[in-house]
Amino acid sequence: MNETKLKSYKEIINSPLTVLKGIGRKRAELFEKTGVSSIGDLTDHFPRAYQNRGNVRLLSEAESGVACSFSLTVATVPRTARLKNRMEITKFRAFDDSGRVEICFFNSRFTEKVFDVGQTWRFWGRVSQGRSGLTMTAPVYERADIPGTFLPDLVPVYPSTAGLTQGVIADAVRSAFELIGDRAPEEIIPPELMLRTGVPDRMTAYRFVHFPQTVREAQEGRRYFALREIFEFVLAIRATRSSRNRGTPPAIGKISVGPYLEKLGFTLTDAQKRSVNEILNDMTASGRPMMRLLSGDVGSGKTAVAGAAAYICAAGGYQCALMAPTEILAAQHYGKLSPIFEKLGLKTALLTGGLKEPEKKRVRDGIASGQIDIVIGTHALISRNTFFARPGLTVIDEQHRFGVIQRACVAENTGSDVTPHVLVMSATPIPRTMGLVMFGELSHSVLDELPPGRQEIKTYCVDSGYAARLDGFIRKQAEEGGRTYVICPAIEREIEPEDLLTVDDPYEEKTEMHYAVEEFERLKSSLDGISVGLVHGRMKASDKDRVMERFASGEIQVLVSTTVVEVGVDVPEATLMIIENAERFGLATLHQLRGRVGRGKKESFCILVSDSKSANAVKRLGVMKDCSDGFRIAEFDLQQRGPGDYLPERGYARQHGQSAAPLLADVEMLREAEKTVSGILESDPDLSEHPVLREEVGEIVRENEKYLQ
Ligand code: ADP
Ligand code: MG
Repeated sequence: MNETKLKSYKEIINSPLTVLKGIGRKRAELFEKTGVSSIGDLTDHFPRAYQNRGNVRLLSEAESGVACSFSLTVATVPRTARLKNRMEITKFRAFDDSGRVEICFFNSRFTEKVFDVGQTWRFWGRVSQGRSGLTMTAPVYERADIPGTFLPDLVPVYPSTAGLTQGVIADAVRSAFELIGDRAPEEIIPPELMLRTGVPDRMTAYRFVHFPQTVREAQEGRRYFALREIFEFVLAIRATRSSRNRGTPPAIGKISVGPYLEKLGFTLTDAQKRSVNEILNDMTASGRPMMRLLSGDVGSGKTAVAGAAAYICAAGGYQCALMAPTEILAAQHYGKLSPIFEKLGLKTALLTGGLKEPEKKRVRDGIASGQIDIVIGTHALISRNTFFARPGLTVIDEQHRFGVIQRACVAENTGSDVTPHVLVMSATPIPRTMGLVMFGELSHSVLDELPPGRQEIKTYCVDSGYAARLDGFIRKQAEEGGRTYVICPAIEREIEPEDLLTVDDPYEEKTEMHYAVEEFERLKSSLDGISVGLVHGRMKASDKDRVMERFASGEIQVLVSTTVVEVGVDVPEATLMIIENAERFGLATLHQLRGRVGRGKKESFCILVSDSKSANAVKRLGVMKDCSDGFRIAEFDLQQRGPGDYLPERGYARQHGQSAAPLLADVEMLREAEKTVSGILESDPDLSEHPVLREEVGEIVRENEKYLQ
């Protein structure tokens, strides 16, 4: 143990978890599943919520279904009984000044030995009204009547996995910080930026996040990590940009997009024309590799613009990779664009996970030999093991993930001296002001105009009392040949593990949750004669695709889904979008979802169902009802909750729902970070005088790479 005293902060955080007391190989493997393999990972394993155990109530004040604490005295000896289904139930009674409650545990005979009559415990859980009075099932319990014991008010709830209890995680986190002691890492954020934004220092931030005394402290701690993420994001994108500027662009000569536009089948809107011209200029005349962001409202026609860019590239003798976030979208783009390209004599291929291995290899060989001009596929597939003979352009569709954007910008797996052009298409409209702050010099084309003939989607807000009338509305749509999406925020009621049952997320509202699986069953039985389908994120990609195809072809008329349909899919016959628990979605997501209907000629509707009474939710849903302009909605969203949707994500952390930034980051913070970074890069463009920052930028790139594997 003495040896560890000599270790530096860096050595400690790079050590495996097994150096901690109580963590053997088995537990380390469980931690691994949650993305934690070193001490450093553990310190950055942030709680996803906090249980507010400090809120001690009297039993008489218990609200049904809401978790809170009770200080109770054990009144009877715990007794265990065997139930018919071979389960065991251990029960006893406890009381406070206002009443009494029956407490039960299942298959936990050991609790007989835990509780003695007369002891006082703090119980945390939900009380419900049973036939013979109040009951509480499997509460969290802490002895409250031993002098000197400290019961924290806020208890972190960590992202976890089966077999790994909250207690084990909390103990591990505690011993990790004991091991670190008063060592501190070198600070990356420049001190003046920390001062201006008023965040605590890093070690204090860790303490606040993991062991907060108040909700305010937990929030302050997160602000530090949000600032750090923002600072690194701005730094990395600026540094990438300046190094790309020094690269050699593909040598594309004078190209006319005329032949492509002729085959398109419609006339471009003015906004599309402007964007195509900006891209054409970047790709043929600027002398620098393009790094352009194309943002536009849902349905503004980004695909046609991307197609033009791909055409310019291929006609100029280079290869283009067009990447979509999902297989469905990749296939849809391929279906739309490849007939046009083939007519123009350009060889186009689709590369998705659904292809058989030999087929994939054939496509990859075609790309490596230069036979294929344009390849369309998913991000992961194209960026992995795919070598281009003449890379010229990477197009990234429906993206607001920084990791993916950056990976494309770095693009070193090309085996070529040329730095390819990059075009990123955002999934959501990014207001110009925001684009400027975030991406700085990244050129930004905006499609602020919809193709002609689009009609307004009628949007209504209702509460769940309208369920029966909505069913009737779905039926009416189906009878008239229309199709309906029903979106639910979650897949399925889990057999909740102990920790989930006890989560009291201070940031979450408590409205009754709608689950896709249950909604699907309910609609199937209430809408007889109408065929109902289900898709969600836990299904295999090929199964999802099959259901989507059946919905697109009309074989399925009602599609119950989670937000997997959020981006891109194009089913013109869809006329009704119903969103359950609408208050749980961000405005950008709601707007995207609404954009799934109104794509054909028929009148279309979006119904936002919510029982939330919170002023904030009512206001946000009101904005959806009154406004159909994605840019204005995005502006409003920004003011309301900070630029969450556009924020950087250290791919891995975000994937595990731990990113600190989206919660509390604000535009002001982004502006301050931007100012600081500009100052640094102005005097030291390649960061040679800032070795720590330089290493950090490299680190971010490597991390994103890992995430794309
Ligand atoms: P998004 O910007 O959301 O990706 P899409 O590229 O999918 O939008 O375009 C939506 C629909 O509008 C597609 O069916 C597309 O063919 C059509 N479209 C695009 N541009 C035009 C245009 N200038 N005139 C008519 N229809 C267009
Ligand atoms: Mg699109």
